Parts: sequence; C-alpha cells; structure tokens
Amino acid sequence: METKQIIFLASVLVTLAVFSYTMYRIFSYMKLTKPFPIRNISRRIGITLKVAIGQTKIFRKPVVGLMHALVFWGFMVILFGSIEMIIDGLFGTERVLKVLGPVYDVIIASGDIFALIVLLAIIAFLVRRIFMHVRRFYGVEMKSISKIDANIALTIILILMVSLLGMNTFYVLMQKSSGEEIAGVYPVSEYMANFFGHLSPEKIHTWHEINWWAHILWIFIFANILPYSKHFHVFMSVPNVFLSRLEPLGYLPNMPEITKEVKLMMDPDAAFQEPAEGEEEAPARFGVKDAEDTSWKNYLDALACTECGRCTDVCPANITGKLLSPRKIVMDLRARMKEKGPGLLKEGLSYDDKKSLVRDYISEEELWACTTCNACAKECPININHPTLILDMRRYLVMEESAGPGELNAVFTNIENNGAPWQFSPEDRMKWAEDAGLDVPLMADKIAEGKKPEWLFWVSSAGAFDDRYKKVTREFIKILNHLKIDYAVLGTEESDSGDVARRGGNEMLFQMQAMTNIEILNGYEVKKILTCDPHDFNTFKNEYPEFGGNYEVVHHSQFLSKLIKEGKLSMNGGKFKNQKVTFHDPCYLGRGNGEYDAPRDVLNAIESKKVEMKRSKSFALCCGAGGGQMFKEAEKGNKEVFIERIEDVMETKSDVVATACPFCMVMMTDGIKYKNQEEKMKNYDIAEMVSMSMGLD
Ligand code: SF4
Ligand code: SF4
Repeated sequence: METKQIIFLASVLVTLAVFSYTMYRIFSYMKLTKPFPIRNISRRIGITLKVAIGQTKIFRKPVVGLMHALVFWGFMVILFGSIEMIIDGLFGTERVLKVLGPVYDVIIASGDIFALIVLLAIIAFLVRRIFMHVRRFYGVEMKSISKIDANIALTIILILMVSLLGMNTFYVLMQKSSGEEIAGVYPVSEYMANFFGHLSPEKIHTWHEINWWAHILWIFIFANILPYSKHFHVFMSVPNVFLSRLEPLGYLPNMPEITKEVKLMMDPDAAFQEPAEGEEEAPARFGVKDAEDTSWKNYLDALACTECGRCTDVCPANITGKLLSPRKIVMDLRARMKEKGPGLLKEGLSYDDKKSLVRDYISEEELWACTTCNACAKECPININHPTLILDMRRYLVMEESAGPGELNAVFTNIENNGAPWQFSPEDRMKWAEDAGLDVPLMADKIAEGKKPEWLFWVSSAGAFDDRYKKVTREFIKILNHLKIDYAVLGTEESDSGDVARRGGNEMLFQMQAMTNIEILNGYEVKKILTCDPHDFNTFKNEYPEFGGNYEVVHHSQFLSKLIKEGKLSMNGGKFKNQKVTFHDPCYLGRGNGEYDAPRDVLNAIESKKVEMKRSKSFALCCGAGGGQMFKEAEKGNKEVFIERIEDVMETKSDVVATACPFCMVMMTDGIKYKNQEEKMKNYDIAEMVSMSMGLD
C-alpha cells in the first residue's frame, strides 16, 4: 500500500468515526419521542421524486428557486465523482469508473458544468446574504451564529467547487502532457486548461494533487460540520420529504387517547369494554409541553430545517409584526432537545430540568397568534408541518392547564351549552330561515315522510347565527330551491362541527361534537353533505372519517361550479357587469384542501372584470380569522391581519371582493370598514353573487 493510500484510508476512518458518533448522538434522542406511523411507501416515493429530487416547492420563488435547484442537482451529479475519488483513494486507482464508457463521459461532463454553475450560484448566495437585506434572513431566532454558520457552509461549498474545477483542469493538462488518454469529458476544465498550459509537467502534477486532496478533505470536513449547521439539510431533506405528512394540509391529526376518554364520557358502559384497536391508554400528558412529547417526525423536521425562513416570510402573524415565527418554533424544538436530550437519556423520561419547550422557549403569545392558515407548511421546501406542532402545544395548554385565552374559554362553554360558539339558544338555529319566511325542508320531516334527501345541507354555526352570513345562507337556499335540489337541513338537531374547539386546542370538546353530530348524521343515513363553510367542509371531509363519519363532502363553490359546467345555472352580468371583482381564497378551501378553481369558475360565469390579488391561490394571505382568531383579540403586532389583506384587495382597485367563507366575510367586511371603503367596495359571497345574477335576491 502506498503512503498516499494509507493517509487516505486514515482520513476516511477518522471521518466515518466522527460522523457516526455525531449521528448516534443526534438520533439517540429519537427514542425519547412519540411514535409517528409511516404508511403508503409508493406515494411517499412519488412525493420524494417530485418535491425532493424535482425541487418543485423551491420553485415557488422562481429565480432563487432555480439557483437552489441547480445547486441541488449539481450536488447529485458531483456526488458520483466524489464516490469515484474515494475508490481511487482507497485502491490507488485513477478515474476507476471510466469503465462505464459513454455514461461516464456524460456524468463527468455534467459534473464539470455543474461545478461552474454551483460556483456562480454560491457566489450569488453569499453576495445576497452579506450585502442585501432579505427579510427572511432576519428574525429573533436568527442569531449571529446562524448567519456565520450559513456563510461558513457556503464558503466551504465554494472551496469544494474551486478545487473540483482545479482538479479537473490539472488532470486534463496532466494527461495531455503525458500523452495519455483523458478519461471523461470536461467542457469547462478543458477551457480553463488553456490558461495553465505554460506550466511544467511537475507543477501541473503538484497542482493536481493539491486540488485532489483539498477537494476530498474538504468533503470529509464538510460532512462532519454539516450536522452542527443549518446545512444538515444536505443529508436530511430527502428523507424528511419521504416522511412527509400525506393528508391534506387542512387535516389535524387525531388524538386516539382522547377518543377513549370521550367515549367513556358519552357512554360510561364503555369503561367495562375491551379497548378497540387504535385506542390508546391515557398518556402522562395530553399535547406537547416539552421536547419529549413531540413525535420523532417533529424532531426529524427540526433537524432537517434549513432555516431558509420561507415559512416565516409568508406567515400572516409574522408579517403583521406578531411574535410568532414558524421557523423559530422548529428551531426551538431542536435547541430544546439538544439541551434536555442528554439528561433524558441519562436519567430517563422522569428527568426534569425545571424548564420546558412551552414558555421557556415558545411563549403562549406565539402559540395563540397562529391562524392555522398553513401558508408556512405550503411554503416549506422540505414539507415541515408547523401548525400541527403549534396546535399540539395549544392542546397541552388547554387540556392540561386550562390556560387558553379567556375569549376562547367562553367559546368552548358556548359550544358545550348551546352547540355554537356564540351565546344563542340552540332552539333559534333555524331563525335565519324563519325570519325570512324561507321554505327549508328538515331532515326529520323528510325521513318521517319516507323520503331520503340526496343532500344534507350543513348550515354551520356561522351560517345560522352570524348576521351577515345568514344572508348568504338564505341566498344559497334560494338557489337550491330554485333548482329543485333534493336537500334537507338538520335544523335544531345541527350542532357546531367542533372546528373552532379543535383549532383552539380543546380536542376533548371537538371529539364530543364530532361524535354527537356523526351519530345524528349516520342515524339519517346521510351520504352527501353540502356546506358553505370551508372550515366545516374541511372538518367533515378530513377529520370526521376517523370517528366513523364517512360522507361525500362538497363546498358550495364546488357545487355551483358543477351546476355551471352542466349548464344548469343561467346568469346574466346584471349588477356586476361593469365591475371589477377580485377573489379572496379561504385558507381551508385553498391551501387546506387544494380547491382554487371552483370559486373562480363560478365568478368567471358571472359577467364582470376579474382581477387577481398579488397574493392569491396557494400564495393567498389569510384573512386572520382561522385557528380560533375570529373569537379572540389578536396578539400584539403592528397591524391586524385583516388590514394587511384588505390592502391587497385595495391594490387591485376592485369594486367587489368575493369570498366563500363566513369567517373571511367578517374579516373582509371589517377591513372595508376600517379603511372607510364602504362607498367604493362591497364584499359578497359567491352564492350571493350567483343569486343576484339569477335575479333571485
Ligand atoms: S399556520 Fe399561518 S399563522 Fe400559523 S404559523 Fe403557519 S403561516 Fe403562521
Ligand atoms: S421550516 Fe421549512 S420553510 Fe421554515 S425555515 Fe425550516 S426549512 Fe425553511
């Protein structure tokens, strides 16, 4: 064995030993966390190819996205050359993979070109980081160490690319001077070689060796620095994407341990029954208080986070100056595990250092500022889901400490007592129809007549009690009646879906509402549910199935869009003919369930001038009402979210802002009032616009 091989072998062994120890230390914390089931491997492979390899999410910011994607793809191609260098280093061979012939030529040529592309991209990234003020690179969580860390990693990549091109350049010259065949194709390095052709063969050989060693040793050093830096995502992003959550973003994972408690409350006899499959023993604590209460996937997310800030950059709470930063939530979990992990490993789960993730790292103010709009999760290039973790911490605060905001506690009491977030009597649930003298069939009456309506129209609490939205409910009912749709409502048997309770952290109350509603719906053998409320649409579609409520759930925008496509709705421009109309996407319809087209199809069928806001569809800014915000004071900031959103609307100079959600309607109306725009701008639900265009209003 030659000296070079011995030195190389020693470097490989040291690298592997240090790297393995670091990995062991980091991943040993996994066993402290909660389970996270992994199913559906084939779908996961598809997501990995699309999101991780195809870098699709990174392209949501096209220019920077392209640069980043080129760096990622470049790394993948260059990795081939690094593997070859390791084989060469260990066995004393030279360019051993040249046996692959033309395939080798293509890979090596691509690697040579990518080395230059990555080099230029990294220079651009460094310039941007050092000299330009990019909002997402700042924030309380971005300590100077984070910035230094990013710049060090970029500099190392720069060195790697320079040494790679240097190595290739001097390899080409070496082969030429010795008259030997050049293995591979080097479009960039062959050109570079022209500048160094005057050097003596000895110098060329020396420079080749310097670059070869510099390149491989910096790879080894980089591999061992990465786990301590934000660039750990170089290793972690692909597995993290593979392990992504597969459900729609609107879905919030169930707590089976609560299901058991709720079943016991609703049916004390169940206490004497064997636990059903999937039902778990009550845990030591509900929700997440500290790092060990999270799932191993939450912790993996924290390790994989690139600190890119794309999540924080689109967070409506953060944009409007509130304390919440989704990136900080993820980084705090990583820091907390690093702090508490060693003690937990040593002394077991009873270890207590008198601190916790909630409060010592993440304040209640941060947690209650979240609107659960899912903009962060939609934007994260490696599919981290922040709202789920935030809500798990809310669940802890509410169910373990009864420490929710006072207004939400009042909402919980109302839901429990009245079946609605407001203090209305459940007996008044049909007043919206009675007051208008509307003929609305009740499910109980229909069933008593031996009829089974095709649709159950779910009015929702807002549709039944919110003054402004009651008008929308009525207009939609007029459309249903006009078209002789076979439907019925539950009337006073309807109770709140529980969405607000769940997003407000009161999982117990949500499950009680869900089980009660499902019992009634299943009792009537309901198969198809139609609703104007995207929050209830999401809850029925994605969350009720886990409690035995399986229905075809349709939002009114989808229902109207289908009718239009089938030619069953005839409308005229009427009132909106010369008006400019923009559409505000409800988070739980759009990002939550991927429905952006249906409401636009409806609007496009109404003669008017359509215009999109600068933030629309999956990029839309939340109205600020979701996640329980509708019922509580906003956290401190420099602006309310609805004001920020109405400014987007005003920028379009629209006459009408169309919505398709009761909460969005309240917020848009408030925004219009706040900006004194009542004379210039109106807010309508798409159902109202259809009804007006049909002359039914
Ligand atoms: S869900 Fe919305 S409000 Fe909550 S952290 Fe994410 S972006 Fe911010
Ligand atoms: S959570 Fe995702 S989007 Fe946010 S900083 Fe980390 S990697 Fe970027």
